Amino acid sequence: MDTYSGPVFEMARHQFETIANYLEIPESLRARLLYPKRAITIACPVNLDSGTTAVFQGFRVQHHLTLGPTKGGTRFATTVDMGEVAALAIWMSWKCALAGLPYGGAKGGVTVDVAKLSGRELEALSRRYMQEMIPFVGPHIDVMAPDMGTNEQVMAWFMDTYSMYQGKTVSEIVTGKPVSSGGTEGRREATGLGVVHLIARAMERLAMQMKGSRCIIQGFGNVGSVAAEELDRRGARIVGVSDHSASYFDRRGLDVARLLAHVRRTGKLEGFSCELLLNPALMLVQECDVLVPAATERVIDGPVASNLKCRILAEGANGPTTPDADQILDRRRSEVFVIPDILCNSGGVIVSYFEWVQGLQRLFWDREAVLSRLFGKLDESFEKVVRKAEKDQVSNRTAAMALGVQTVLEAKQTRGLFP
Ligand code: NAD
Repeated sequence: MDTYSGPVFEMARHQFETIANYLEIPESLRARLLYPKRAITIACPVNLDSGTTAVFQGFRVQHHLTLGPTKGGTRFATTVDMGEVAALAIWMSWKCALAGLPYGGAKGGVTVDVAKLSGRELEALSRRYMQEMIPFVGPHIDVMAPDMGTNEQVMAWFMDTYSMYQGKTVSEIVTGKPVSSGGTEGRREATGLGVVHLIARAMERLAMQMKGSRCIIQGFGNVGSVAAEELDRRGARIVGVSDHSASYFDRRGLDVARLLAHVRRTGKLEGFSCELLLNPALMLVQECDVLVPAATERVIDGPVASNLKCRILAEGANGPTTPDADQILDRRRSEVFVIPDILCNSGGVIVSYFEWVQGLQRLFWDREAVLSRLFGKLDESFEKVVRKAEKDQVSNRTAAMALGVQTVLEAKQTRGLFP
């Protein structure tokens, strides 16, 4: 199928083939497991403030429908194309299956530089994107969520647009909404808090102390900034942070509260300090206890993997590590403990699932109930992955992916092939 191409899709395909070989999945079943069920591409015309009209390209990929509706984020970024969205949808499938959620994976997005849009233009694009998707989504068909470049406000616009067309409020059409519009307590922080919860679990296994540990975080958006705040709250030392605009490093520890206030005020890290600037290319290979890539895909390639000087690699982002890098990390298993993306950042989709369930039932839980259920589910997944990795003498990524792929495979086999 040549609808899907590009480096990110190739990476998802390569990872899948590795797992399929490991699980000895027959060739005849592989294409059925890998290739997305549906791929939608749309044109979103938007009237710009300048008086002209721009047409943005939008995508949505629904990977498999075997376990329930599809579920996945919506990315607004310049990199978005069909291959990237398909890869992210495939990873979502393995992630949901590993967490035991009744979903197939999906992902969507628009190719756009959000920094160049005014607030009104962003709202118009968000509403147009959802309006074009109405024939293809629904609370029991495909449920959207935020991802890079989108947030709670965008989800509120999606929900409002869908609801206006239905003539009633359908809050379950998206997750990651503001609490005031039917969202759940704890969703905004869920991914970052989940990342830190799993770092703490890894530290327990490795007999490391959170207090005073040195952490580096790439990406200071939803996932990265919440992870930084929580690590700081638990007594870790944030020695490095970066976003698309600047990278800062200080061995003594950065002032996280001031960084957060600066980003709230200006929208980016740039302008925080002149003395603490570090070449972004060097950030990931600084010596530290915990490295959290929480920005974008393929930032850890072969050379970076060889030079990593962290004890724990906690993958907040989706697909931050290339297959080349994975091979190197496999050899360095005793030096670098990897918490693979489909486990590490699964807190987001787990609490999205809680939000969907609460919305369907119109019965809402408090923050404590949401977070304790989240941490319980993460603990279960962590134990399953680590136990399998140890038993089969494979990497944590292979174990996590194998558990996810196996679950989808079994469901497909027991349902059979229609007609
Ligand atoms: P976001 O848009 O809120 O933040 C992204 C951050 O990454 C921004 O600070 C941006 O400046 C930075 N960034 C982008 N390119 C960079 C680069 N080359 N170097 C350094 N920083 C860079 O997005 P987010 O929601 O925090 O998502 C981050 C990652 O986590 C993505 O891979 C996303 O798919 C994944 N993820 C997000 C969630 C969620 O709940 N938001 C859940 C699971 C996985």
